[in-house]
Amino acid sequence: MRLIKKIALLLLVFCAFAFAKPTIYILATGGTIAGAGDSEIKSSYSAGAVTVDKLIAAVSAINEIAVIKGEQISSIGSQEMNNKVWLKLAKRVNELLARKDVEGIVITHGTDTMEESAYFLHLTAKSKKPIVFVGAMRSGTSMSADGPMNLYNAVNVAVNKESAGKGVLVVMNDEIHSARDATKTITTSVQTFASPNSGKIGTVFYGEVEYFMQPVKAHTINSEFDISKLENLPRVDILFAHPEDSGVFVEAAVNASAKGIIHAGMGNGNLFPSTQEALAKAVKDGVAVVRSSRVPNGATTLEGEVNDKEFGFIASNSLSAQKARVLLMLGLTKTSDTKELQKLFLKY
Ligand code: ASP
Repeated sequence: MRLIKKIALLLLVFCAFAFAKPTIYILATGGTIAGAGDSEIKSSYSAGAVTVDKLIAAVSAINEIAVIKGEQISSIGSQEMNNKVWLKLAKRVNELLARKDVEGIVITHGTDTMEESAYFLHLTAKSKKPIVFVGAMRSGTSMSADGPMNLYNAVNVAVNKESAGKGVLVVMNDEIHSARDATKTITTSVQTFASPNSGKIGTVFYGEVEYFMQPVKAHTINSEFDISKLENLPRVDILFAHPEDSGVFVEAAVNASAKGIIHAGMGNGNLFPSTQEALAKAVKDGVAVVRSSRVPNGATTLEGEVNDKEFGFIASNSLSAQKARVLLMLGLTKTSDTKELQKLFLKY
């Protein structure tokens, strides 16, 4: 009798572990996924108006696949994203994922700057566990809101064992993208996220996850960036090139104490002559200058039409200007050496 009791107890403990639902934290930052408006057929709404508890309550199916815990990090449209929220978010992600009882994190975020926040976490989170960014293009009060299905899919990606070790992921409209390459490509469509240089890495359809590829650039546990003791980040500005450009914005950035400038150049990162002159002077004044491109596809390569060696410029490789800004901000926390910074643009 005693033996039977023991076996039953053991079986109970085994079942409790084997069938226990994973714990997933949903960290909410705001955005259209938490947006609300007056009419289901009008485009106007306020981003970040709905709290994380209400977001979770609206998609009850996620409670069937995970033990869901919610935290409010911020309540902003992601056009208001800033260093303070990035550092708060990254520190909280690292704290939570260091815990044995937390299996993954879903971050709800506005789509405008999701690509930057996701890449920031891709470079600063210190865990193999899944970290998934999700947003929506239609607010929760809109007809055919995309947020609920996107959130359901994001939680499914976060609990999926194959998501581990892939770095930070972006889940939107049934697609899974790597944070390194994901970018918003259409201002208003639900099919807005794409990875122009690499393609999506997987799909998630009604919660069914399928991966096709693995991101190979360094990230998360293989990244050298440590934000645990940082209270702020170096200032890096982006300048957008055009015909009849001028160096005044370069001078303005330098006068505003920018430590780095990303130049979204024409074609393969090309510069208008007076801008080139002003940027070369900025380098001499100790500012790191990265040549990127205003073209949405392809890479900005070293030593094309521009003599990078002579001017001390860095090439962004296949990072867009906005992602190059994230990497340069983190790079400048480690070094201001041009050659070392250039290596980062090849590695990450
Ligand atoms: N402006 C919103 C935001 O980025 C847009 C969205 O979430 O789709 O917060």
